[in-house]
Amino acid sequence: MASDFLEKLVEDGVISRDQLAEAQQMAANLGITTEEALVKLEYVDAAQISSAQAAQFGYESVDLDEIEIPQSVIEMVPESVARENIVIPLAMDGDALLVALHDPMRFDVLDKLRFILNREIKVAVAPKDAILNAINRHYGQSETESVDSMLQEFTETSIEFSSVDVKEAEAIGEDESDAPIVKLVNLIIDEAMNMRASDIHIEPFEDRIRIRYRIDGALIERDTAPRRLLGPLVSRIKIMANMDIAEKRRPQDGRIKTRAGGKEIDLRVSILPSNHGQAVVMRILDRDSIKIGIRNLGFSEENYRKFQRIIRRPNGIFLVTGPTGSGKTTTLYSALGELNRPDRKIITAEDPVEYLLPGVNQVEVRANIGLTFAAIIRAMLRQAPNVILVGEIRDMETAEMAIQASLTGHLVFSTLHTNDAPSSITRLIDMGVQPFLVACSVMAIMAQRLTRVVCSKCGKPYQPEPSELQQFNITPEQAANANFRRGKGCNYCHHTGYRGRIGVFELMTMNSTLREMTFNREPTQNLRRQARLMGMKTLVEDCVDKALEGITTLAEAYRLAKASD
Ligand SMILES: [Zn+2]
Repeated sequence: MASDFLEKLVEDGVISRDQLAEAQQMAANLGITTEEALVKLEYVDAAQISSAQAAQFGYESVDLDEIEIPQSVIEMVPESVARENIVIPLAMDGDALLVALHDPMRFDVLDKLRFILNREIKVAVAPKDAILNAINRHYGQSETESVDSMLQEFTETSIEFSSVDVKEAEAIGEDESDAPIVKLVNLIIDEAMNMRASDIHIEPFEDRIRIRYRIDGALIERDTAPRRLLGPLVSRIKIMANMDIAEKRRPQDGRIKTRAGGKEIDLRVSILPSNHGQAVVMRILDRDSIKIGIRNLGFSEENYRKFQRIIRRPNGIFLVTGPTGSGKTTTLYSALGELNRPDRKIITAEDPVEYLLPGVNQVEVRANIGLTFAAIIRAMLRQAPNVILVGEIRDMETAEMAIQASLTGHLVFSTLHTNDAPSSITRLIDMGVQPFLVACSVMAIMAQRLTRVVCSKCGKPYQPEPSELQQFNITPEQAANANFRRGKGCNYCHHTGYRGRIGVFELMTMNSTLREMTFNREPTQNLRRQARLMGMKTLVEDCVDKALEGITTLAEAYRLAKASD
C-alpha cells in the first residue's frame, strides 16, 4: 500500500527503478523509510514526496514555510498532542479543523485527534521536517519560556546571582529542573539544536555575557545576558558535564549527554578561563550527522567512483586532510559505516571518541597512561583487524605505525592538518618519515572543506558578471549551460541566503609517477602540477563546478580561494 505512490513516482519518471531500488536498500541498512532514503539520496525532495502522497489520497499538500497560522488555531491543539503525533493545525474549515500530517496513512492519528479535540478533522500533507519546524516555531512563540523571554526577565528583574558560591551551585542539581538557571541552560541547548548550530559559545565581557551559535560555519550572535548570570551558568554547565565546580583557574574539558529537539545528543564542553571570567564552548555532536551516507557528502560523480574504489582496497593508507571543522570526521565515519559488515573487523584509535559506531571497536587515546596513537595501533595489530582508523597523524611515531599497519595488509584511514592534498606528502617527509615508506604506503589523499548550500526557499537563478566568470576561468560555453543560483535571504535561512553545507574535495590518487616523485623528495608544487595533469580537480575547481550547478555560489568559491592563498 505505502509503496503505491512510490510506484507512481517511477511511472511518472520522477525517479528511476534503479534509484528506487537503491533507496530501498539504503532504507533497510539505516532503518529508515524508503521515502526518507529517497530524500537523503536527493533523488526527490521532501516536498515532492509529500505532494505525491497527498495526490494518492486526494489530499492537498502544503508548504508550511509559506503559511501564517493564526494563534487561535494553534491553541486548539495542545503542544504535547502536536509533538507526539507530529501534526500541526492549519485553519478552521467550517466546523472542521484542517491539520497537516506527514503520513496520510496514519488513520490511527486521525481517529485520536477526532477523539481528543471532539471535532471533524480534515487533512493536508507536508514533509515531516517541515511540520516539526512549524511546531517549534509556533508553539515556541506561544510558550512563555524561551531563551529570549528568560534573559529578558533576568535583565529586568534584580534576581541576584552574583553571590552564588560553590555550595549554592551544587544545590542547582540535576533534579531541580524548576530552577531558572537549569531551565535557561536547557533552553539554550534546545534553541541551538533547532537552529542547526554546531556549537554554542558563552563569552564573558566586562559588562555582559555574549551568547553565540555557529550555524553553517558562521558565528551568529544570539543573545546578550547580564554579567551576573555568568557564575550560575558556568556552574550549571560544569555540573552537567561532571566537572570540578571549584576549579576556576585551569581549563577543563567534559561531556554532556542530554535530550534536545526530540533526540539524544552529546555535547563536548570546554571551559577556558579568560581575563573577564570563564568562557564556555559546547560543541554539539549530533549522531544523525554521521549517518549522512557517502552519497550525500557532496562528491562529484567521478570523485564518488574513485572514493568507492579506494575504501574497498585491502590495504594502503588513505588520508583525509583539512582544518578542524572541514567535515573530515563525517567523511571517514561514513566510509566506516559503509565498510561495517560482520565479516570485517574495524578498530579505531581516536582522541577523543566522538561518535559511537555500533559494531566497531573504538579506543580512546589517553596519553597520561601511555595510551598514545602509536601504542594503540601496535596493540590493534595483534587483534587482526581489516580496517584501522587512526584519528590523526601528529608525529613520526604514529605515521610509522600507520605505515607498518598498511604494509602488513591493513586498510588504514587517517587525517592530517594540511591545506591541500599534495602538501600532505611533504608533511609526512618533514615529520621524519622515509620518502620510500610514504611512496609505498599512501594510496590516496583527499583534502576537503565545507561550502554553504544556496537556500532552497529563496535561491533564484541569476547571471554572474563577466569579470566573475573570468576570475574562475569559466568559459562562455560553460556559463551558457550553467544554472547559477543565489538567495536573497529569508526566514528559512536566517537571512543568509544559504542553508546547510556540503563537502568540496580534492582527491589525489597516487600512481607510479607520483610515487617516484615522492621517493625523489620533489617539492609540493611539482606534485600538485603532476596530479592536476592527471585530472585532479582542486578544492576551488570542485567548488566552482558546484556553483555552475547552482548548489553553491561563486562567492563561496571566492571565499575558499582566498582562504587557501
Ligand atoms: Zn532563504
